[in-house]
Amino acid sequence: MAVPKRRQSNSRTGMRRAHDAKTAKQLASCPKCSTQIPTHVVCPNCGYYMGRKVVDEQ
Ligand SMILES: [Zn+2]
Repeated sequence: MAVPKRRQSNSRTGMRRAHDAKTAKQLASCPKCSTQIPTHVVCPNCGYYMGRKVVDEQ
């Protein structure tokens, strides 16, 4: 079995664990077109946010 030659530094351990607290974005369905989108984001499908058209879709 392969064994590490050197002990990993506290810094490297911390760098690896820096992303451990990240969690998946909460998804909600758009009230206009009911596609799954992250919360607090303009819907990329219909361009609506907070019941108002914000972006023209292509
Ligand atoms: Zn939508």
